[in-house]
Amino acid sequence: MTLLSNLVTEAQIAARSVADYVSGTGLRLGVTGLSRAGKTVFITSLVHNLTQGGRLPVFRASADGRLTRATLQAQPDDAIPRFAYEDHLASLTIDRTWPESTRRISELRLHIAFERRGSWRARNASLTIDIIDYPGEWLLDLPLIGKSFAQWSRETLDASAASGRATLAAAWRGGLQGLAPDSKGSEQVAREQAERFTAYLRAARQDRYALSTLPPGRFLMPGDLEGSPALTFAPLPVEEGRTYGSETIAAMMERRYESYKTHVIRPFFRDHFSRLDRQIVLVDALSALNSGPSAVRDLQTALSDVMQSFRAGRSSLLSTLFRPRIDKILFAATKADHLHHTSHDRLEAILRVLTARAIARAEDVGAKIDVIALAAVRATREGAVRHGNEVLDAIIGTPLAGEEVDGEIFDGSAEGAIFPGELPADPRRALRGDALAVPESEADYRFVRFRPPVPQAGDDGLPRPLPHIRLDRALQFLLGDKLE
Ligand code: GDP
Repeated sequence: MTLLSNLVTEAQIAARSVADYVSGTGLRLGVTGLSRAGKTVFITSLVHNLTQGGRLPVFRASADGRLTRATLQAQPDDAIPRFAYEDHLASLTIDRTWPESTRRISELRLHIAFERRGSWRARNASLTIDIIDYPGEWLLDLPLIGKSFAQWSRETLDASAASGRATLAAAWRGGLQGLAPDSKGSEQVAREQAERFTAYLRAARQDRYALSTLPPGRFLMPGDLEGSPALTFAPLPVEEGRTYGSETIAAMMERRYESYKTHVIRPFFRDHFSRLDRQIVLVDALSALNSGPSAVRDLQTALSDVMQSFRAGRSSLLSTLFRPRIDKILFAATKADHLHHTSHDRLEAILRVLTARAIARAEDVGAKIDVIALAAVRATREGAVRHGNEVLDAIIGTPLAGEEVDGEIFDGSAEGAIFPGELPADPRRALRGDALAVPESEADYRFVRFRPPVPQAGDDGLPRPLPHIRLDRALQFLLGDKLE
């Protein structure tokens, strides 16, 4: 893009924002979270519940009977894919399979007609909500803008030496041994390095380790850049402050790193992130808890890194480029239906501890922040099951094919009762590694994955709104004031 067209785009964006702001009828809601956090499921359930009159008692406009109608509308931005709502809903309600997860940015426009509470304004009103779904991995990139190649390399190499990561990083670090930063650069070497480095980042994210992501975010969530040369670089043990000859591998990697910042990071923040009004950050805290304290601490760090994006730095460069106008941020621990309801508040308390550092750093964001535990789609119900002489709280659902409970392997058709274990009353224990009050030997009982619930049809034959836990609380925080 030329400088002129850049300026024109920015001016257009600003004009649109001002128009939305003045008319007060538009809201851009960002939905993010690391891969598998539950973004796709959340948006699908949110739209289904709003458009089909779901049970949302804590969402005031719904509880008061003031929601007249919610409908999907044509999407405003031609350059962004539409969120595949209908496909995702069909997966959940017809096939009873979980939908395809978020891989790139997408958007959906929802129009809500409602009645205002006060009588001093016209009673009938409407709100247009643009829901923007994007990988949380991309948010972790913003801090790179202020970092040199040498600084990013050093930090990434240091992190890869920490316990929990060292073994996973061994192959990549081993390959760095014989590579002098001032040796001659070649495409072949750059590609090999990038592949090994990406394999390490990917391994750290696997279910077993559940470590959070390190930047660059596109290495794991490339979106449209899949296979692109923009992603063929990797950290090197370069000396900070030294200038390397232009033919060296160090200079080659540095050029690509800088071009990633210019052509990938900046446009995302300028065109999408900086235009958001509200944001929900979904967090799969249960997987981290299940993987152990190093995954939990790692998640805590990732959350405070995410928060840095909302602060957008105090540095004048960052704040003039992308000062976010976000006025509300909700952190939500997802998949609470894996726990008995007695642990829902505890999950919320753990997320509060995990985000405390992030929230403290957000003092100057000027946004209202809250924390919640929810299940966008409730795949289980509760029951009590006799276990020897004891009657235990259990959750009942259809485990996914291949899941094992008590030595029994499920085929995806039968229901099973699971004792999910209890989360600790003191949330700080989550960081110390004794979070789940279930003996280690029974650890695999707890996080059995379930199929989506059996769809219920209403009198009209259409699927009833997806069951959820506390989705209404999330809606009240994110949208409630706009529907007063
Ligand atoms: P994304 O990568 O953030 O888009 O994550 P998804 O929305 O695709 O969710 C990833 C997986 O988490 C799904 O395939 C489900 O297995 C699980 N999941 C997400 N939300 C829920 C929920 O509300 N309840 C249950 N039981 N599982 C969920």
